[in-house]
Amino acid sequence: MSRVYNFSAGPSMLPEAVLKKAAEEMLDYKGSGMSVMEMSHRGKVYVSIIEKAESQLRKLMNIPDNYSVLFLQGGASTQFAMVPMNLMAPNKKADLINTGNWSKKALSEAKMYGEVKVIASSEDKNFTYIPENYTISSDADYVHITSNNTLEGTRFVEYPDTGNVPLVADMSSDIMSVEIDVKKFGLIYAGAQKNLGPAGVTVVIIRNDLIGKHIEKTPTMLRYETHTKEKSLYNTPPTYSVYIAGLVFDWIDEMGGVKAIEAINIEKAKILYDFLEESKMFINPVVKKDRSLMNVPFTAPTDELNEKFIAESEKAGLCTLRGHRLIGGMRASIYNAMPIEGVKKLVEFMKKFEMENK
Ligand SMILES: *Cc1c(COP(=O)(O)O)cnc(C)c1O
Repeated sequence: MSRVYNFSAGPSMLPEAVLKKAAEEMLDYKGSGMSVMEMSHRGKVYVSIIEKAESQLRKLMNIPDNYSVLFLQGGASTQFAMVPMNLMAPNKKADLINTGNWSKKALSEAKMYGEVKVIASSEDKNFTYIPENYTISSDADYVHITSNNTLEGTRFVEYPDTGNVPLVADMSSDIMSVEIDVKKFGLIYAGAQKNLGPAGVTVVIIRNDLIGKHIEKTPTMLRYETHTKEKSLYNTPPTYSVYIAGLVFDWIDEMGGVKAIEAINIEKAKILYDFLEESKMFINPVVKKDRSLMNVPFTAPTDELNEKFIAESEKAGLCTLRGHRLIGGMRASIYNAMPIEGVKKLVEFMKKFEMENK
């Protein structure tokens, strides 16, 4: 068996230790005689799995007691609608900072439920930076940001100070990559398949005073209230995905927590960005101070070289480096589970490629 370094933007690499543990427990979870996939979500064994996942997440992210943690389905894309359906009250107004493709999707969905003001945008420069000057509307029900822009390779290093207006963040591609102060947010959501686990589960962290304000005729399944009341067990949750996410949380804990992971992430990104700065072939278009720690887009001077790079890197066991179809070129996604050796191998490969294709 040989495993590759997989730079996929999502679904993406999981820690090998997690996959091994899941394999060990596949046929007989802790003497239950069944796989986690086969057991009732209301049984004692499963309830302890989901409760442990929640308590680990609370501990690792230092989530205060006045926040609820939910494990939902439908991906981050469903949150694009759930957030406005539940939070666009009483003013039916929201602010949004437009920093890329995912922000735009959140915007078009939110617009169906009220007035959304784009208070800042970096679209003028192909989303290669994070805008800094904006004024929060005092009557906005919330302000929406995309904390890390998966396609464009930017991130908010500092989060906006929104005062009394709740800050909502789509953290799908950088949750648990750096330490954050949850208190600054009204709501955080993230599809799991980039940094937390397998596809199928979406984590929502919501301040309790924001629950129960959904607009009339919000379907039961799309109300946060339904899921907070039932502790994510209103209906069948994505049981196996929650279990694997729980193993990922245990792995982060064993690594020393989010602070330790953050240090490794900074080191990994530095190796790649340092090389990109000295390279005469590869270009990363992002303004230096706003560079993502998770997604690093880069291009060679011609499409022909990009294609050659993608083909040859794949052969070298450095996989899924093709950039997003909207951006082109290459993109290395180096989430929590990407070992530092993978980034070093990538940089070695890039150096060699540059030498050979001068
Ligand atoms: C991947 C991604 C999404 C979409 O997630 P789904 O779970 O596929 O709906 C949304 N926002 C960001 C920032 C992402 O990276």
